[in-house]
Amino acid sequence: MIQKVLIANRGEIALRIVRACRELGIKTLAVYSEADVQSLHVQLADEAICIGGPRSDESYLKADRIIAAAEIADVDAIHPGYGFLSENAKFAEQCESCNIKFIGPRAESIRRMGDKAVAKETVRKAGVPIVPGSDGPIANEAEALKLARKIGYPVIIKAVAGGGGRGMRIAHNDVSFAKELHVAKNEAEKAFGNGDVYIEKYIEKPRHIEFQVLADSHGKVVHLGERDCSVQRRHQKLIEEAPSPFLLANPSLRKAMGKAAIKATEAANYENAGTIEFLVDATGNFYFIEMNTRIQVEHPVTEELTGIDLIKQQILIANGEPLPFDQKDITFNRHAIECRINAEDPARNFTPSPGTIGLYYAPGGHGVRVDSHVYSGYQIPPYYDSMIGKLICYGADRKTALERAYRALNEYLIRGIKTTIPIHKAIMSDPTFMEGKATTAYMEDFLARTP
Ligand code: ADP
Repeated sequence: MIQKVLIANRGEIALRIVRACRELGIKTLAVYSEADVQSLHVQLADEAICIGGPRSDESYLKADRIIAAAEIADVDAIHPGYGFLSENAKFAEQCESCNIKFIGPRAESIRRMGDKAVAKETVRKAGVPIVPGSDGPIANEAEALKLARKIGYPVIIKAVAGGGGRGMRIAHNDVSFAKELHVAKNEAEKAFGNGDVYIEKYIEKPRHIEFQVLADSHGKVVHLGERDCSVQRRHQKLIEEAPSPFLLANPSLRKAMGKAAIKATEAANYENAGTIEFLVDATGNFYFIEMNTRIQVEHPVTEELTGIDLIKQQILIANGEPLPFDQKDITFNRHAIECRINAEDPARNFTPSPGTIGLYYAPGGHGVRVDSHVYSGYQIPPYYDSMIGKLICYGADRKTALERAYRALNEYLIRGIKTTIPIHKAIMSDPTFMEGKATTAYMEDFLARTP
């Protein structure tokens, strides 16, 4: 059995991993940057090693230093969390070559599914529907223009190496296509060090519905149902829930999508936890857009839906154990919703609001879970993303989960900085959202009509 895990991450996910390890009787090593000395995961891990300066490229992205820390502390596995090195195939290989288990998929799967164009081709061959678009990266502008016309506008231009909603541009005609293609390539080069882009039909007002999958090293693959992540701002998720209100009314569609998710996972020759993302149009056509080869921010909604601890399952899978359940054992009889609490000012176009938290009081009570690394007096470093916590509320049905979320948001006290809590309160009491009608176009419309 794995004895000691290095957590190659920070913030709430690092703390989440410490907690799972502790319950499994596994020791933990936190690695942290000079800016994260105060973070709760550093205090709560069994051991902690500082690996460098505050900027991610001086610490959390420094694979060599992380591996050196692992060797000094004699750990036998590394959990990468999300972001940073979690989808870096080279890092996974480096771990394995040093005889350290990488708690995640094999490098080969990360590489294949990390290239979005290759990922689409992989699942298409397995019979999973994909959004119409270019077969791979765009090699030639004139050919791309021809294809855009053939697909029909609007089209979306996306970075092959994209992530976090960045590097995407929408074009409505030939003129804007030529312009946006250049912008997208430049953005992709800057953000990901790879300027390759591909194009897709832009699906108007779709829902973003993704399936959580687990695959063990003995060939068993199951899905744990879906998460509806349609509430997004600038292609970045803000609220996630499970089940999807759209699929609650379409159980046969859930079945078909679940089957497709398993096929896609098998096609990736996948092991460990992963997510198959789909866009679904108003008539129920669904299209694969990408696979995320890591644990996701929104994993707790699936945990509260199914009662399965995903981080523990990741560790047990990495340890070579078979999944302890079959598809038929996994039930979806509850409802869970997550609000991302970001240190951002919604009144100022969501600009980051780092600083010192004066008073911090997290909500509690029946059906409320808060995953957060902050506390009263915590200083939010300006170097990382702005998420300071996740509020997850659950209950017997959607109405109960939403009422509970509204109640909990009203209890949440975070003084000294601006947060997204007021926006969440407004959304939880917005009729369109309450009726389960939100698509990915929802937030823009909501912000336009909210004073
Ligand atoms: P990232 O990896 O950057 O998160 P994704 O491919 O997962 O990018 O897309 C993120 C979001 O962008 C989707 O949830 C959706 O809102 C929007 N999007 C992506 N592709 C399309 C498309 N073909 N049509 C419409 N919206 C899209």
